[in-house]
Amino acid sequence: MSSEALEEGARRFLIGLSEALGVRLSKILDIYFSVTPRRARILEIVEEGGRVVGLRMAVESGSRRGVWHYVSVGPYGAKCTCEANTIRGLICSHIVAALITWNMVSLIKTGEPVDVKSLGWLRRAGQK
Ligand SMILES: [Zn+2]
Repeated sequence: MSSEALEEGARRFLIGLSEALGVRLSKILDIYFSVTPRRARILEIVEEGGRVVGLRMAVESGSRRGVWHYVSVGPYGAKCTCEANTIRGLICSHIVAALITWNMVSLIKTGEPVDVKSLGWLRRAGQK
């Protein structure tokens, strides 16, 4: 996959995510740019039948340096160890970071993006 196709696939996913969550694109972009190797680490990539169907990540807290949250995302839902998700049940920024990473990994490994519309749980959940 060319870098142009990769950028286009990422761009479309970010827009789709913004629409699905009803959140400004600028907020999604802030999270996108915060996903750096120093602040986010992939722990496990879940593959099934040649597709990337989810992943597990550690994402550093935006407000508390050195505090890491553990996130998993997949077709049926997402979980994060932060308060916003465990206590308030919200789609936190860590889950958004993991979704963005999942899409990038899928594009790089298989050339296929993650279909935001297939993630029904995204729309049902609240947003921080
Ligand atoms: Zn979280």
